[in-house]
Amino acid sequence: MNEIEKRIRQWIRPEVQAINAYHVPSSEGLIKLDAMENPYTWPEAMRDEWAALIRETDVNRYPDPQAAILTQALRDAMEIPGDAGVLLGNGSDEIIQMLALALGGEQRVILSVEPSFVMYRMIAEFSGLRYVGVPLDASDFSLQPEVLLAEIAQHQPAVVYLAYPNNPTGNLFDDDVIEKVIAAAPGLVVIDEAYSPFTDATFMQRIGDYDNLVVMRTVSKMGLAGLRLGLLAGPAAWIEQIDKTRLPYNINRLTQVSASFALKHKQLFDEQTKALRLARETLLTELESIPALTAFPSDANFILVRLEQGDASEVFDAIRAQGVLIKNLSNSHPLLANCLRVTVGTQEENAAFLAALRRAYQS
Ligand SMILES: *Cc1c(COP(=O)(O)O)cnc(C)c1O
Repeated sequence: MNEIEKRIRQWIRPEVQAINAYHVPSSEGLIKLDAMENPYTWPEAMRDEWAALIRETDVNRYPDPQAAILTQALRDAMEIPGDAGVLLGNGSDEIIQMLALALGGEQRVILSVEPSFVMYRMIAEFSGLRYVGVPLDASDFSLQPEVLLAEIAQHQPAVVYLAYPNNPTGNLFDDDVIEKVIAAAPGLVVIDEAYSPFTDATFMQRIGDYDNLVVMRTVSKMGLAGLRLGLLAGPAAWIEQIDKTRLPYNINRLTQVSASFALKHKQLFDEQTKALRLARETLLTELESIPALTAFPSDANFILVRLEQGDASEVFDAIRAQGVLIKNLSNSHPLLANCLRVTVGTQEENAAFLAALRRAYQS
């Protein structure tokens, strides 16, 4: 072991050393159906209008630390109750980190269900918190109320995360069970509505009905993943405390200007996400017609499939070799054995994926 490695071993926190860095595979030259991005770009006229705005934006000055204009645009666009507090993050990932800072501490527990969004676990671990993952039902990925409530009673988590709809399974959890979780949780319950553009279900209007409910959203999945912008809405007193852990100026000036501009064209994004919802149903029907696999219904912009025949890693490689990148989840969790996840793209992209999948089975 050389000197650098020795010092690293001594000083980098053991829980950080133990983490496998989040790996983003190269997608160069591939049809990209791996990361739940919106496949549509902007019309020329809108690009020109945006470019003119950016041209007038001075970046020698710090951005507005409260991002007041953008926050109001988000309040309107996402129908956030007027008396709720709102804080913004550099993606909702940063908000998960703020929550770890604000509610963390030795022996504190972050709890979520599994399989779900990997950042809940990762950020808890590298923040030195304990993470508890409660398994979902093995057949349909629903919440298991008895197990979940027992784990909450035992571990007294500071934060409970529920992705609604859930990633990577695509389903919405039962409202009644979520309400029981909120009632039973001693700390904060975060309903992560990253996929809200693709479902009508939401807890946004229930903010204030409970002491401990907050709702997290992002603009990533609606079509602004490149801007990095998420938000947390909830009772103002909670948001005020959590906001103390936010780094000043975390939403840069280009993001503030660009997202405020984009939200003025919300209708365009609504049309795009509506098209994706329709494409999702077509893709699901096509997948269901392939006997070798099980496709799970989805309220998000992706579909989880389990291969009943063949090996998911081999099929994944064969699909990529034909120019389509999806996500191989088969080694990520026992309940996802032999599972792949495909993001809903344009009709052409989905057709290319289906053709590649069918061919992968024939070879
Ligand atoms: C994609 C995703 C996020 C991350 O959103 P960003 O705002 O891009 O950081 C959060 N939660 C879930 C469940 C997601 O799938």
